[in-house]
Amino acid sequence: MCLGRSSSCAVGTTAISFEAVLLFAHAGIALGAAAVMNGLIGSRLDTRRHNQAESVKPHARHRAVEEWMVSLGQRADLSLLLLGAILSDLTDKPMGRIFYGTFGCRLFCHSLLFLLLVVVAGLLLYYRRHRNWLLVIAFGVLMHLVLDGMWADTKTLFWPALGLSFTTVRYDYWYEEVLHKLTTSPDVYLPELAGLLIIVWLAWLLVRHGKVWDFVKHGRILD
Ligand SMILES: [Zn+2]
Repeated sequence: MCLGRSSSCAVGTTAISFEAVLLFAHAGIALGAAAVMNGLIGSRLDTRRHNQAESVKPHARHRAVEEWMVSLGQRADLSLLLLGAILSDLTDKPMGRIFYGTFGCRLFCHSLLFLLLVVVAGLLLYYRRHRNWLLVIAFGVLMHLVLDGMWADTKTLFWPALGLSFTTVRYDYWYEEVLHKLTTSPDVYLPELAGLLIIVWLAWLLVRHGKVWDFVKHGRILD
């Protein structure tokens, strides 16, 4: 979620162009990507998918994308997916404000090392306890790093291999900068709109299927 003018972002003397992705884009696009992946490969992992989806909504067989989302909601805790999608910013932004005096930063939770730790812990939990919730969070973290375009900030991405310091950008008016980008930059407001649409669509899906309470309690679209 780091925002910045490319001219003001720097690691040492190297200019960094920050990807400007905010809350709804991170959460909604991660959710949409998970639904598509579930639709494309999920059926190979769980042959019961079609039966489950049809039991929730018989005519959903004609709505592939909706079916994918319902199926995803049956196999994964979507609230944890949404949490994973914004987890890196939820942790790094306050830490950046405390330790570096700025929200314009990406710290440990934007590194591959953090992602790797979550994935390994998630795999251990899955194979020992058959629980997938940590892998669901790991997918959200992965999508966060992708949407932040972390490949442009290799110092943070490969931390600590390229040094112990992190990329930081100081803003005199951080909130004003965010608001300005959100209202004037298509690179910011278009992904936000896309993410918001996906989240609104999920909400509409829950209402139509009468699964709002299941989602609130379990983060799932239960059968
Ligand atoms: Zn971020």
